Amino acid sequence: MEEVQASFSYKAHVLVLPFHGQGHMNPMLQFSKRLASKGIKITLAATLSATKNMPPQVGSISLEPIYDDLTHGGLDGADGLKGFIDRFQEIGSRNLRDLITKSQSSKYPIKCLVYDANLPWSLDVALGLGIMGAGFFTQSCATIATYVDMIEENSLESKKPLRSLEELGLVNMPDMGSSTGRYPSLMSFLLGHFDNIDKADWVLFNSFDKLEEEVVKNLMKLYEVRTIGPTLPSMYLDKRIEDDKDYGFNLYQSTGDTCINWLSTKERGSVVYVSFGSAARLSAEQMEEVAWALNESDANFLWVVRTSEENKLPSSFKEQISEKGLMVTWSPQLEVLSHEAVGCFVTHCGWNSTVEGVSLGVPMVAMPQFLDQFSDAKFVEEVWEIGVRPKGDDSTGLVSRKTIAECIKQVIQGERGEKIKRNASKWKQLARVALEEGGTSDRNIEEIVAKIVSN
Ligand code: UDP
Repeated sequence: MEEVQASFSYKAHVLVLPFHGQGHMNPMLQFSKRLASKGIKITLAATLSATKNMPPQVGSISLEPIYDDLTHGGLDGADGLKGFIDRFQEIGSRNLRDLITKSQSSKYPIKCLVYDANLPWSLDVALGLGIMGAGFFTQSCATIATYVDMIEENSLESKKPLRSLEELGLVNMPDMGSSTGRYPSLMSFLLGHFDNIDKADWVLFNSFDKLEEEVVKNLMKLYEVRTIGPTLPSMYLDKRIEDDKDYGFNLYQSTGDTCINWLSTKERGSVVYVSFGSAARLSAEQMEEVAWALNESDANFLWVVRTSEENKLPSSFKEQISEKGLMVTWSPQLEVLSHEAVGCFVTHCGWNSTVEGVSLGVPMVAMPQFLDQFSDAKFVEEVWEIGVRPKGDDSTGLVSRKTIAECIKQVIQGERGEKIKRNASKWKQLARVALEEGGTSDRNIEEIVAKIVSN
């Protein structure tokens, strides 16, 4: 943890601890940059495979490996998510304790831990060492409110105010419930995040107040909730952080120039960008329907199919696509979404992708695959009205090529498409306002910084 500039004086030192995964590193790294821009020294502690793909320093942010996740095969190791989580806790908590303790005799002792809500044990370590702790959720406020409802349903604790979410029509319990029922061990892990969260000084969300207004108000009755998003690099939003061109890091090999050069040959709004994020695994049948929907639609398409998913593509599909299509294994998503050629985002509605689509004003076709993605899709279609969700088969959930193609058409052309585009521009503007000086997220970040500094 070397100091960046000898003459420069930091206001305080904050340790940021993301979970392993693209959807965790991205928002927490961007939030770190915001804190750093306000004079905070940041150390970002990440798993070894994440830090290996990052330079030792991102701007003024120093990186420290906290856990050698690759030793046992990482998240894909033989003992699955549970093994990964348990080992992370056992080894990571020792390393975390060492990192914080070592800093106490340095010029800038760590005063606060911003931890990924997937790592609740780290809050206990921080509080045990007498520093502040802020939980960071990488899902929406609505999703978290739903989890709190679920805890209450099992009558673990009475947290009455949240039931009103369903009454407000903001959370579709049947959707979430049917998905969560399929993943009982994952659900008990997710609900475990709440065991100690009320001890956290803040509970942070990559969201902004207007985006989930009622939900934020409700959640604030329970926790010290602060929205600090959207967590995109400043160059895409308010340009308040100097030299913020660096996108961050990628766990995957990006095909950046290929995508942007190709997009630059296409007309404004003529390209459908398709990505199911870093983790979703579509069935071979669903891949086939997406493939033919794209090939048969009038629009151009840029489709991200991760290397591990490529074997599900229809045989010879890649050879058949003409100039109108480009397939890559990973894209620079923010650059792509902000490119004028892109007119529609077919997305799995992971929370980061959803917020990115909202903040960059791109109309969406929402194809959720599991857990919180269903409630994100509901917000896209029904609350913000910035996209459509193709309906799948009642029993199998399979979305047909015809339905996908129709939804793409609706978003890109026609009356509904015009309304969706107007709404998308409105939300893009509101996202910017939230982060600009005096905006709700900016004020929240200022408040957090002031409290850490004065503590
Ligand atoms: N992403 C990217 N290139 C891709 C696909 C995804 O950079 O080809 C990024 C995307 O911008 C987002 C993150 O990976 O920040 C995925 O997070 P999200 O919450 O959307 O989905 P998850 O991968 O966690 O399911």
